[in-house]
Order: sequence, then C-alpha cells, then structure tokens
Amino acid sequence: MYCGVQEEWCRAMSTTFEKETGIKVSMTRKSAGETYAQLRAEASNPRGDIWWGGTGDPHLQAADEGLTLEYESPANKDLHDWALNQWKAAKQRSIGIYAGALGFGYNTEQIKAKGIPEPKCWADLLNPKLRDDVQVADPNSSGTAYTLLATVVQLMGEDKGFDYLKALHKNVSQYTKSGAAPAKAASLGETAVGIVFIHDAVVFAVQGDPIKPVAPCEGTGYEIGSMSIIKGARNLENAKKFYDWALSPAAQALAAPAKSYQVPSNKNATVPPQAPKMSEMKLINYDFVKYGSSAERTRLLTKWDKEVKALP
Ligand code: PLP
Repeated sequence: MYCGVQEEWCRAMSTTFEKETGIKVSMTRKSAGETYAQLRAEASNPRGDIWWGGTGDPHLQAADEGLTLEYESPANKDLHDWALNQWKAAKQRSIGIYAGALGFGYNTEQIKAKGIPEPKCWADLLNPKLRDDVQVADPNSSGTAYTLLATVVQLMGEDKGFDYLKALHKNVSQYTKSGAAPAKAASLGETAVGIVFIHDAVVFAVQGDPIKPVAPCEGTGYEIGSMSIIKGARNLENAKKFYDWALSPAAQALAAPAKSYQVPSNKNATVPPQAPKMSEMKLINYDFVKYGSSAERTRLLTKWDKEVKALP
C-alpha cells in the first residue's frame, strides 16, 4: 500500500486491515506527487497494489495516464456525491475517501511579537514583516502545495495567481517536501505561517499549541483525498478487499483517533467534531477534471518551477 496521509493514520489503516483479514500489508508513506512519480517509474513493473490517500489531482493524473485500474465497489452507493465525482472524473480509476479545505495556520505568539494584524486572507501572507517566515511545500512532491497552486490560479486567474505566488516566494523560507510539515513548524514557532490543509493545522491547535487555523477570506480550494488500484497489481484481489473495506464507516472512523480530521466520504461515517466546517467556508468551484489532467498539472508545475521557484 502506498499511503498518502499522515504516518499515524497510515499505520492505523494497515494494522487494522491486517488484524481483520489476516492479509499482510506492506505500507510506505509518501506525498501525493511522489507516489504519482513512483507509479510512473514503475509502470512496466508495478510494485504496489493500492494507493490510498493523498490529494485527488495526482490520482486523476495517474488515471489519465492509465496507471490505475477501473473498479466499482459495492460501497459506492453509500458515498457522498463529491466522492463519486472523483470516480466519474477518473473514469472509475479513483474514488474519494475524504475531503479537506486548504488554508493556513499561524503561530499566535510570533504574529503578536511581530506586531502585525492576525492574517485572515491570502493577501495578508504578502506582508513584508513575514519575510522568510512562511513555509509551504513544493507542489512537485506535495499534493497540498499543488492544491495551493491550482487554487490561486482558479481564484485569481492565471496571471494574477502567478503574480501572487511570486510575491509569496519572497516570504517563503523553504519549500518542504511534505505538505503537512509547515503545520508542525508553525505550531513549534519555527515559522510564523504554514500553508497547509486546515485540518493539518487543527491537529496541533486541539493539543493546545499556539497555532490558529484559518480559512482564507477570499475563498479557498479543497481536496478530494483519493484511493486508486494500481494497474498490474500483483495482489489484485487483496487490493479490492482493501478498497471496499477502506470505504466502510468502520475503516473511516480510524481517522480521528489517529489525529486526522478530514470529512469522510461514506455518508454513514461519523464526521469528527474537530473537522473544519467546510459548509461555513467560501469554497471555490474547484475544477478537478482540468487541474487533475496530465497536461494541465504538468504545465502548471513546469511553469511554477521556471517562474517561481527559480527566483532568488
Ligand atoms: N496530510 C493530510 C492529513 C492529508 O489529508 C493530506 C492530503 O490528502 C496530506 C497531508 C497531503 O500530503 P502531501 O501534501 O505531502 O502530498
């Protein structure tokens, strides 16, 4: 199993599945863009059976390139429309397992020490007083950071969106490999702001760290965390068993105890009380078909490398 969420949730999924079925799971945790690249590299000799978790766009790109397999689970009838929309967009090669909105978390003590207003909007992250004090992941490796890239392009238009990312670059101290790492850094005060999925900042807020999760005022994008069966899986029947099980309310309930507060895709699964209320946020109408297509994701990442990351 190639796992795309936080290590603790990955472990809970693999050990519980092993216990319930007797099927042994070998699990590796990687960011979404990295797993996509691995599937591509291993296409002629697939080593994985199932890719569980991680943002939907790279899953869609893998589907688009025929790296994953069509499957219709009996559990589909119990899923929210947004989870089935992923399945339709992927031509049955991927399905939604959870949803989460993008935003940022800021360290309340650091912001106070800088004497600046608490950031509430994307625009606030361009404040020169945040120079070298914002962290976000690299969109090539991280699904979170690709969601940011695709979100600002959809929210602001491509030219203004890239202007925003170039201006933000001045404040970014480092582009991390993993999407959630900046939340931990902000909770520890190693950076004033971390751009992350809001639920990844909530993890630290609920344990009492001085971090405040924010849904940006201009509006924001979101992810459909996804699952796909890898084409050429050597253990196909077991992959299907895992897939069906992972869509059940019982399996989806393993998230919250593992400190993962996304919204589950099964209508009968309990939404963790800590999960950010997506219905109260201004969400963009994220075009997953376009931004998950192979051509568009490749084009935007190449442009970001050239026009943003290459800046001094
Ligand atoms: N962490 C959690 C809890 C997530 O839900 C996701 C995305 O689905 C990620 C991290 C994304 O990881 P990355 O940005 O490293 O691909």
